[in-house]
Amino acid sequence: MRLILLGPPGSGKGTQAHRLIEEYKIPQLSTGDMLREAAVAGTETGIHAKTIMDAGKLVSDDVVNKIVSDRIDEPDCTNGFILDGYPRTLTQADAVEEMLAGKGVQLDAVVELRVDDEVLVERVAGRYTCINCGTGYHDTLNKPKKDGACDNCGGTEFKRRPDDNADAMRTRLQVYYKDTSPLIGYYYAKRKLKPVDGMAEIDDVSREIHSVLDFD
Ligand code: AMP
Repeated sequence: MRLILLGPPGSGKGTQAHRLIEEYKIPQLSTGDMLREAAVAGTETGIHAKTIMDAGKLVSDDVVNKIVSDRIDEPDCTNGFILDGYPRTLTQADAVEEMLAGKGVQLDAVVELRVDDEVLVERVAGRYTCINCGTGYHDTLNKPKKDGACDNCGGTEFKRRPDDNADAMRTRLQVYYKDTSPLIGYYYAKRKLKPVDGMAEIDDVSREIHSVLDFD
């Protein structure tokens, strides 16, 4: 299964990708995570990307295309992968086509998570993740069952993203509508688009994704 998760920041791409990893036993390829890891590792790409990411703008197409192409060549991607946060521009979407064609595989579906803007801002402002396993939580909407401990691994350390603040979020939304939302029409025309109601409860969204991925 080769899948794209498409949707604005806060639409639940990461949360749903985590569940799909378990279900389909394929890796999640999050360009945001890869760039953040590169920034922590202090590579030239990472250091350059960090300033752009913190401001909520997009890293250049060439950089992310190369990162994804290299990652897809790794053995764990042989049976498929979930692209989370990539492609984000029409240039990147064209690059994916070319990349996959060159590797002799094709995209199965693009799941679009639809969420109202005011909900996105609320979700992003309060979100945090477990440092140990990456499970996502929210200050009010999705707290761990036991205060201060991760439901999944019991970890007690959590982190918040520097770009999950009001200013960067406004920029990220503008960038989404200007550069990324044209991909909805692009994939609709290619008959790949599977819209899903991302406003529903997390479990219900997972169920709907499962049902739209039930290929003939
Ligand atoms: P995300 O974790 O997907 O919200 O991405 C965080 C930030 O990483 C974005 O705001 C961009 O600065 C950068 N980024 C992630 N994916 C891409 C991409 N496909 N193209 C350009 N920039 C990206």
